[in-house]
Amino acid sequence: MKIVWRSHTKAKTALMLGVMLGGLTHPSLSADKADCTQGACESAWANASMATKKAANDFGESYKAFLHKARTELTTVAAIREAAQQKGFKEWAPGTRIKAGDRYFHVNRDRAMALIIGGSAPVAEGIRIVASHIDSPRLELKGRPIDSNQGFALFQTNYHGGIKTYQWTNIPLALIGRITRRDGSNVEINIGLKDDDPIFMVPDLSPHTARDQMKKNARDVVAHEDLDPVAAHGPHGEEGKFPAQQWVFRFLRSNYNIEPADLVSAELALVPAMKPRDLGFDRRLVAAYGQDDRLAAYASMEAAFTLDAPPQTTVIQFADNEESGNVNVSGASSTYLPDLVGELLFAELGNNYRQPLFTRALRASKALSIDVNPGVNPMNPGAWELTNAPLLGYGVNIKLYGRGFNANSEHIAWTRAALDEAGVPWQTTTYKVGRAGGGTLGKELAKLNIDTIDFGVPVLSIHTPVAVSDKMDVMALRDAITAFVTH
Ligand SMILES: [Zn+2]
Repeated sequence: MKIVWRSHTKAKTALMLGVMLGGLTHPSLSADKADCTQGACESAWANASMATKKAANDFGESYKAFLHKARTELTTVAAIREAAQQKGFKEWAPGTRIKAGDRYFHVNRDRAMALIIGGSAPVAEGIRIVASHIDSPRLELKGRPIDSNQGFALFQTNYHGGIKTYQWTNIPLALIGRITRRDGSNVEINIGLKDDDPIFMVPDLSPHTARDQMKKNARDVVAHEDLDPVAAHGPHGEEGKFPAQQWVFRFLRSNYNIEPADLVSAELALVPAMKPRDLGFDRRLVAAYGQDDRLAAYASMEAAFTLDAPPQTTVIQFADNEESGNVNVSGASSTYLPDLVGELLFAELGNNYRQPLFTRALRASKALSIDVNPGVNPMNPGAWELTNAPLLGYGVNIKLYGRGFNANSEHIAWTRAALDEAGVPWQTTTYKVGRAGGGTLGKELAKLNIDTIDFGVPVLSIHTPVAVSDKMDVMALRDAITAFVTH
């Protein structure tokens, strides 16, 4: 459902219009945000109409359902592809010329993808890009992933993305991913999300035996190498002739037709298995794994579904491996995106295609890079300099990290105007100097000589097994993306 967000100054008119048209109104303070001290401004919930609150809660429901399925880049691509097909998006193939109003999707190796919406202007005049990442911090199985110790079969893992190791013990983990046999056939693995599935877990020491452990620095309480979830326990078979490790290999062979060597050509992730839940009596917050950055992926997918012939052709990019620095062929540092733009331009120009026309099209494009960022934590507000800190429920935030990372003032002004015109609540973010940090995929777009601005949404407990977002912010991001693309 489309929300009519309205800035403070337009609130009265909006309210009247809302009443007259039976539409949704949302008076917010966004337009005045730059004038007020953060923390003193009102939350987007403060003056929201009942209809807006309901819309945010409804959006939260579909968001949670998406997060439950979309646990890794593979399952996220599958979920976005399925949703796009249901919305009438067709698979784009090289050579297909994009016309105004056309809706396509294109998948990169099952691990990254793009939604493409044809704009009124030719691709040669530039496009709009909205980029987010679909990988989240997690544990991953090594190539020789099963070991045994003290009668247990244990997974040998590595980690993806920055984590506090001790937070990944004693939580239910699901095993999700793909194993490719030597003949090229794939086996999809998805164990631990259904209520009657088994789960996996790293058992931590109990307080009784942790006296030495508790003296350690938080960084060393659980070593990364010691995050070994239990895969099975005890001997199996007659007279216990199969120790746990051997039994796991037999289990994989008989249930999945998998040999130990097949695990070398596998991408298996252990991710928190908990269902996304509402947090708090008022159900305004979503507590769920994977919101970094599937919050932005979901909001941009939903924004794409509402688009109909925007001014410029729009590419909604979903990239992999941001948590490792945008690496590999499905990460944002690969040439996937410029290759796609080149193909779209070639399909448009045919034999008139020339390399400078491609670079001019990039120069005429505008990009929005989105990644969630830490919102002010009520237990530790001192981690922020509060004048420039983002608050949950106050809308999307423009990242102003400084030191050369910001978009230029013209691009920020253009974006600010787009948000204000649509009445989307927004705020700004600058980390406490020298005390925090974090990268995004924006630099990969800027590298292409595309004007790029970084957005985020404030989230609590990022990179932990369960992060917390505000439903109003998730909906605001969807509308901010629409505003950026249609301005
Ligand atoms: Zn992220």
